[in-house]
Amino acid sequence: MGGRDGAEWRRARELFGSARRITALTGAGVSTASGIPDFRGPNGVWTKNPAAQRLSDIDSYVADPQVRVQAWRNRAEHPAWQAEPNAAHRAFVDLDRSGRLGALLTQNIDELHQRAGLAPDRVLELHGTMFRTVCLDCGATGPMSAALERVAAGEPDPPCRSCGGILKSATVSFGQSLDADVLRSAQRAALDCDLFVAAGTSLTVHPAAAFAELAAKAGADLIICNAEPTPYDHVAAAVLREPLVEVLPELVAVPVVDSPDPLRTWGDPSTWS
Ligand code: ZN
Repeated sequence: MGGRDGAEWRRARELFGSARRITALTGAGVSTASGIPDFRGPNGVWTKNPAAQRLSDIDSYVADPQVRVQAWRNRAEHPAWQAEPNAAHRAFVDLDRSGRLGALLTQNIDELHQRAGLAPDRVLELHGTMFRTVCLDCGATGPMSAALERVAAGEPDPPCRSCGGILKSATVSFGQSLDADVLRSAQRAALDCDLFVAAGTSLTVHPAAAFAELAAKAGADLIICNAEPTPYDHVAAAVLREPLVEVLPELVAVPVVDSPDPLRTWGDPSTWS
C-alpha cells in the first residue's frame, strides 16, 4: 500500500478534494473503536461463535422462545448502551457540515452516527435500529428502553402490550426484508453522488453491499476503507486499510478544490435524456 505517501492515499485525497456530493456506506468497522464488536472480522461475534448467528435468524426467533430469551439477554448487555461516538463518526458530521454529504447509508443499528451529531434524516438505517422495538404481529413500535425495563423486572420474553404478540428489536434479521422506503432512498443516494465511500463494511451483506457497485456503475468513484479485503476492492479507485479513526478524519480534512463544471449524476432527473 505504501502508507500515507502511497498511490492509494494520493488518489483517495485527490478524489476527496474534488468530490462534490459524497454518499457513504458504513458498517460495523466504524463502531469497533467505540467498543462494539463487529460480526465477521478476526474478533467478530460470528467468527468466534458461529451459533450466535442463529439469534439473528427471524425463523428461529419466531419459532423458539429460548432464542428470544437469549436475544433479550444479549440486547440488555449490548455494548452500544455504553458506547460513545468516535473520530470516524465525527468525521461524517464534519463532512455533512461542509455541505458535501449526500446521504449516509449505514448497516449499523447503534445510532452512533446520530449521537455524533448527524441529523436523523441524513442517516439511512438499512438494518434498522436497536433503540426501538416492533411487534411482529401488530406492528406496534416502542422504545427499547421500556422493553428492557420489563426484562430487568422479570419478563424474560416480554410480549407486545397491545396484542400479546412477539416483540423484537426494530432491526432487520436474516430472513426479513429491508424497509422499502429506506432502500429506495439509498438507491437514489448511490446514483446521485460523484464519490461513494464504503467504510468499515466487509461488503458481503446484500443489498447493502450492492450500493457500492451501483454507484461505481453509475460513474461515481469508489473508495473502500476497510481493514479486511472486500469483494469490490477491484472496482475501487482506492482501498485504504488503516484504522478508520485515522483515515476518515484525514480524508474529510482534505481541502476542497472548486470545479466550474455542474455536477451531473444518474440520480439527477435533469440528466435523464
Ligand atoms: Zn402487537
